[in-house]
Amino acid sequence: MGDTLGLADQTIPNAGFVFDNTYARELAGFYALGEAAKAPAPRMIRLNQGLAHELGLDVAVLQSLTGAEILSGNAVPDGASVLAQAYAGHQFGHFVPQLGDGRALLLGEVLDRNGRRRDIQFKGSGRTVFSRGGDGKAALGPVLREYIMGEAMHALAVPTTRALAAVATGERVYRERALPGAVLTRVAASHVRVGTFQFFAARGETEKVRQLADYTIRRHYPQATSCVELLEAVIDAQASLIAKWMHVGFIHGVMNTDNMAVSGETIDYGPCAFMDGYSAGTVFSSIDHMGRYAYGRQPEIALWNLTRLAESLLPIITEEAAVAALKSYWARYERYWLQGMRAKMGLETHDEGDGELARGLLKAIEGRDYTSTFRNLAQDLDLGAWTEQWLRRLAREGATPADRAEAMSRVNPVYVPRNHRVEEALRSAEADEMGPFASLCDVISAPYTAREEWAEYAGPAADGNPGYRTFCGT
Ligand code: AMP
Ligand code: MG
Repeated sequence: MGDTLGLADQTIPNAGFVFDNTYARELAGFYALGEAAKAPAPRMIRLNQGLAHELGLDVAVLQSLTGAEILSGNAVPDGASVLAQAYAGHQFGHFVPQLGDGRALLLGEVLDRNGRRRDIQFKGSGRTVFSRGGDGKAALGPVLREYIMGEAMHALAVPTTRALAAVATGERVYRERALPGAVLTRVAASHVRVGTFQFFAARGETEKVRQLADYTIRRHYPQATSCVELLEAVIDAQASLIAKWMHVGFIHGVMNTDNMAVSGETIDYGPCAFMDGYSAGTVFSSIDHMGRYAYGRQPEIALWNLTRLAESLLPIITEEAAVAALKSYWARYERYWLQGMRAKMGLETHDEGDGELARGLLKAIEGRDYTSTFRNLAQDLDLGAWTEQWLRRLAREGATPADRAEAMSRVNPVYVPRNHRVEEALRSAEADEMGPFASLCDVISAPYTAREEWAEYAGPAADGNPGYRTFCGT
């Protein structure tokens, strides 16, 4: 029977989205309006129910066909202002004056249940004015990779963008071969990047740089009373963030300035990976030939990127102030790094020799599995001279490894998304077998609690995964 009142078409549920789009409203000239490509047969692959709830969204609607329609871009929820953001960026050290959202679209901003403003963005929703030669699409594999890595980082208490959903479009995308297409819905504190500042600075649009700085202060650093204080706040947030990457053995892989969010969240999970055997020179990305973004170089690369941010602000801050702010980076980084390393080593007090002790530990574990070595540190006392040093240091706190084992297990995870597990999940998903992806999502959501049934997720691949390579997937 038909809907005799003719209401059917007027009552498309909005899935609870209540948008308040400051970027669209306040930053005209910083973006181009866009429209998502139509997905021929959208199908929800995974909805992040916890995050949907946190955002005040209607989980039941999102789980229904309507959810797949909305989160594939086929149906635009009321109040969205769909746009592609302009940005520039240094890619592997080379400046590209115009990048921008070539395969992403911002739907808008919502206030979550805690009153925090969050961007809702599609990735893989088709071409925009910034697409250049690209198709604007994303393949299922990289979408699920971003989903897993972001959720793992979140569970490890590392600031990060998150995945709200992965929707298969029912379309093939063509890379080296035909692959199933998908759209990722990404949630971020914002998508303002170092490269956003660079875009306007490079064009000499000083007023726009100032406007963006004011916007960023209002949105992320309301305590900052000047652009210099904004720069200091971004430097501090990045110093803290990169220290956390180092603590969990995360390698971003493509730390271009367009992939550095000024909010201090990890953003743009491309060829990233967690390190298995500890080595500062570890590189997984197939395109990082020079090791520019190797594990151990991340702290200095962050400073390099922040220097580009400072340069972009030079029309509105003095060079002296910029240099002074940048000079504070290493002390900030060292403080955050050491704070985290002390916790990983089970230390509660501060001692002058702690930096040396922490560095000595990394030397002693060269080549060993990073994650499990830290997890088992309090039990495996076989690190020779280093162990002796550590025991003496703990004794000065009146403690033994056993006393601190529990506290250490709250900061040293059992589970990270191991490379071979990630590959297994993505390979299976491409063949429409979602079991391994679902299991991996479960495992990484509770990284500190060892579970019998997850024992096989706790270690590296049996063969050590030699020559493992990651790809951008664009
Ligand atoms: P990324 O490597 O993801 O940081 O992207 C770098 C730049 O390339 C950004 O401007 C992207 O929007 C753009 N890009 C990446 N993949 C595509 C694609 N498939 N189509 C259009 N633009 C893309
Ligand atoms: Mg990017």
